[in-house]
Amino acid sequence: MKLTILGYSGGFPAPGGATSGYLLEIGPRRILLDCGSGVLSNLFKLVPIDKLDAIILTHLHYDHISDMQVLKYAIDLSRKHGIDMKPIPVMAPKSPEQLASTLESDGNLIIGQISNDSPMKMFDATIRFIPMEHPVETYGLSIEAEGKKLVYTADSVPCDNLPILLKDADVAVVDAGTLERYRKPVMVHMTARESARLARENNVKRLVLSHLLPVFNPEEILEEARKEYPDAVLAELMQTIEI
Ligand SMILES: [Zn+2]
Ligand SMILES: [Zn+2]
Repeated sequence: MKLTILGYSGGFPAPGGATSGYLLEIGPRRILLDCGSGVLSNLFKLVPIDKLDAIILTHLHYDHISDMQVLKYAIDLSRKHGIDMKPIPVMAPKSPEQLASTLESDGNLIIGQISNDSPMKMFDATIRFIPMEHPVETYGLSIEAEGKKLVYTADSVPCDNLPILLKDADVAVVDAGTLERYRKPVMVHMTARESARLARENNVKRLVLSHLLPVFNPEEILEEARKEYPDAVLAELMQTIEI
């Protein structure tokens, strides 16, 4: 498997960057994980629109789905100008319903609902959708293929399912959306330290910190995480990780 980081900003894109989006390659198959602001621009550097096999959306917050609307135009206009392409299958949560309905299209996308954590076979991988704790229905992803395990936590605070998700991952891309000094009574993201501690406690072999809020100094995020997981690294735009 290969994972290319198409966007890692939390909430809104850093200058020249993009919010959440990752290209997962399993052999010849290409799956887009989340489709935030600026993700398509980076995706199309690597994959023509008619070569994308599937899309998985972890939750329906705009920083993970906003480019889905533009993707519909891209499919429409490509077809009108001679590119022969099938509808793209999309797996997404069913709520919030108002946002789920915005994904509907006239034959450009086929929407399937993520509804539980039972494993799903997708191409040569086994994908598990594990509920996370976030203000809307959100799923962390565990993707196993060729004896390796990749984890993407999407957005979450620490919860009972995170150790299950992270356990023995070869690579984990985690929400490090905030810092200890911004701790509040109610949180919606993990601090860099919390993510790193969970990764260490659950034997994650390689930790990539993501969902980085552009207003933070990346060095501070890294320094905080490395107190718990000394080899943690920050997500980098267009970086490809072999798993
Ligand atoms: Zn979110
Ligand atoms: Zn987010």
